[in-house]
Amino acid sequence: MRDEFVDEDEVKLFIGGRGLGVKILIEELKPGTDPLGPENKLLFMTGPATGTAFPTSGRFHVITKSPQTGGIGDTNCGGTFGPELRFAGYEGIIIEGKAAEPVYLWIREGEAEIRSAKRYWGKGTWGAEDGIRKELEAPNAKIVSIGPAGENLVMCAAIINDKHRAAGGTAAGAVMGSKQLKAIAVRGTKKLPVADEKKLKEAVQTASNMFRESRITGQSLPTYGTAIAVNIINKYGLLPTRNFQTGVFPAAEKISGETIAKTILVKGKACWGCPIACGRVIRITQAPYQVEGGGPEYEAIWALGPQCYIDDLNAIVKANNLCDELGMDPVSYGNTLGCAMELSERGKISKEKLGGLELKFGNPQAIVELTWRTAYRLGFGDDIALGAKRLAEKYGAPELAMHVKGLELPAYDPRGAQGQGLAYATSNRGGCHLRTYMIGPEIFGVPQQLDRFATKGKAQWVKTFQDLFATCDSAVFCKSATFAIWVPEIVEMLNAITGWNWSSDELLKAGDRIYTLERLFINREGFGRKDDTLPKRLLKEPMPEGPSKGHVVKLGAMLGEYYALRGWKDGKPTPEKLKELGLCKYANL
Ligand code: SF4
Repeated sequence: MRDEFVDEDEVKLFIGGRGLGVKILIEELKPGTDPLGPENKLLFMTGPATGTAFPTSGRFHVITKSPQTGGIGDTNCGGTFGPELRFAGYEGIIIEGKAAEPVYLWIREGEAEIRSAKRYWGKGTWGAEDGIRKELEAPNAKIVSIGPAGENLVMCAAIINDKHRAAGGTAAGAVMGSKQLKAIAVRGTKKLPVADEKKLKEAVQTASNMFRESRITGQSLPTYGTAIAVNIINKYGLLPTRNFQTGVFPAAEKISGETIAKTILVKGKACWGCPIACGRVIRITQAPYQVEGGGPEYEAIWALGPQCYIDDLNAIVKANNLCDELGMDPVSYGNTLGCAMELSERGKISKEKLGGLELKFGNPQAIVELTWRTAYRLGFGDDIALGAKRLAEKYGAPELAMHVKGLELPAYDPRGAQGQGLAYATSNRGGCHLRTYMIGPEIFGVPQQLDRFATKGKAQWVKTFQDLFATCDSAVFCKSATFAIWVPEIVEMLNAITGWNWSSDELLKAGDRIYTLERLFINREGFGRKDDTLPKRLLKEPMPEGPSKGHVVKLGAMLGEYYALRGWKDGKPTPEKLKELGLCKYANL
């Protein structure tokens, strides 16, 4: 183990978190590195905002080469681990190589130690968290861990913090498993540096008022959680149902945030220092799906619900809870299940292969039972563990996998929101709403209302969101903040913390630099224009019913404009663009 120090000039170029992570990854990994081999690196990063008074800054970012996509693997997570890592004296952790036997890392007040995790290997994330805290006699230690899914290199394996917060998507949990690293525990009390305390206090006050006044961050999310979106997205006809065969789910009300609030909600829950508290604590006492603890958020409800045509809220909550305990991302898992159900209904999967499992849309037992089988790779679970793309390829119907660049799509059918279609297609990470959330302007009217079926001008919006979200993940705070505050408020708080005196344009330029560097990383791995696309279903099959009826994604109308705005050609940054951003050395120019 050794400490490394980062040059302040490099921090100014890449901010921290995701930006610094991709810089380290592109410098230190050779193209073609096996993501599950010891040469891959796994980074846990914080940023200058993490753990400060900046609202929603209780987060951390994980960066690696993804075994699921072969491209950039990264994922942002809430909870308490991020701030505690900084309080313990570290801005980030770089995991290299592979342990000879299961281990965990214990970091306390600037000291790091590797300890045996043999007794926790095979356990779920909850058992590992509890056991490690007890062993360390550190009840306030903050812990990230993997479950059996990560240990068994499952392609929807996540890293879990605080039992219910997941660093999901792109299979970072499998990379952690490949290194035989069960967990990381941190504890610290260090005061974080802030350049101008008075200026930060004023800027935070302004931002906090805006959080309170926003109908989304001040009312909807605290009251109903992210599941407030279920009814809204369904009302507009873009709630993907039966593996994106339609955008209308007739029983949306039964699984909505409003229904959760009326039936099983115990209370809301916040990540460290967050005024929004979109997390849910729920209790179900009714058999067979009794459960108490973390409740599902919108994306998980969709993946385990409409995607699989399931309206049994208790089964959805149970399956989501099992995903947390087994260390799986419910979004990738549920998307893959929906794909498997369609494959099965189309006769592509034999009965023998399913081993008695009734794999059809609408069967709630399937989504619960397959959590175990997937995490432990038992029977047909071994096929779900492949992820949607490889599963559909294996059964001879690749067109039925709803993914981009190998990552399963989330909970918005882009035929009902054209900009979101461009966002999915051009995401460096793959099918994802966390690179750009065009649902904000196209559906919720935030920061302003756009025509959701128009294509004109959407490229600029997508680029701006991509650049802004790159700065959120690099300064490291929650993207939900952007429902209430925008670039000027963010830059004001960041300047007070760092003393940089940036303009809004400089902040977005840093985001552009980070996004472009990620693009260079995936270009090196063979990704280009051919991968900036969507599943055929979304491009060719008009939405069959509902308020988005008749629409497909008109990607061709937006992609050329997007590349021009980015300064890319055929999905690759031009030398001129790299020069402008100071990135030539990463392309050997
Ligand atoms: S808005 Fe929700 S996810 Fe984001 S930091 Fe707050 S509680 Fe966590």
